[in-house]
Amino acid sequence: MRILVVEDETKVARALQEGLERQQYEVVVAGTGEEGFYLVSAEEFDLVILDLMLPGRDGLQVLGTLRKRGLVTPVLILTARDAIEDRVQGLDKGADDYLVKPFAFPELLARVRALLRRGRTQQVALRLQLADLEMDLVPRRVRRGGKDVECTASIPGTPKDEALESKAGVLPAACLKAHFASISACLH
Ligand code: CA
Repeated sequence: MRILVVEDETKVARALQEGLERQQYEVVVAGTGEEGFYLVSAEEFDLVILDLMLPGRDGLQVLGTLRKRGLVTPVLILTARDAIEDRVQGLDKGADDYLVKPFAFPELLARVRALLRRGRTQQVALRLQLADLEMDLVPRRVRRGGKDVECTASIPGTPKDEALESKAGVLPAACLKAHFASISACLH
């Protein structure tokens, strides 16, 4: 399980990394919102732990943009500001849970475990499959017969909004077929 920790305070980031690694998680630390945003767009993570108070692009901005782009990875926000408004805004922008600093590490671990359990079912719903063609919506990746396919053309707009809106995360067959037809067209 890979966890991205976006936290600018070195001491807190190190404590999180060490504590999580002790539980056998693989941890990557980003010290700014920009770096976190870049990593989460480029690599696969099972969970993001996101501090809200970051220099530059703050946690709420990072979270809002990621969710708008269809990222479904569970996000646990950390806030030093014990204000109801921050928590409400964070949850509105698509956070799955939050913790107010300072927090007890066992509580963080319990929330991490709960989010990871939930996250797996969501991620499966965002993998589209038709015959030997598979496509992950986030990050966008296409495989045919189990092998990665490099797309020279950009992958057409994904039907992720419909997937996110549908409660079961299941897309209507017609929508999927049309989407795969457009992906197939780019592969040839
Ligand atoms: Ca901070």
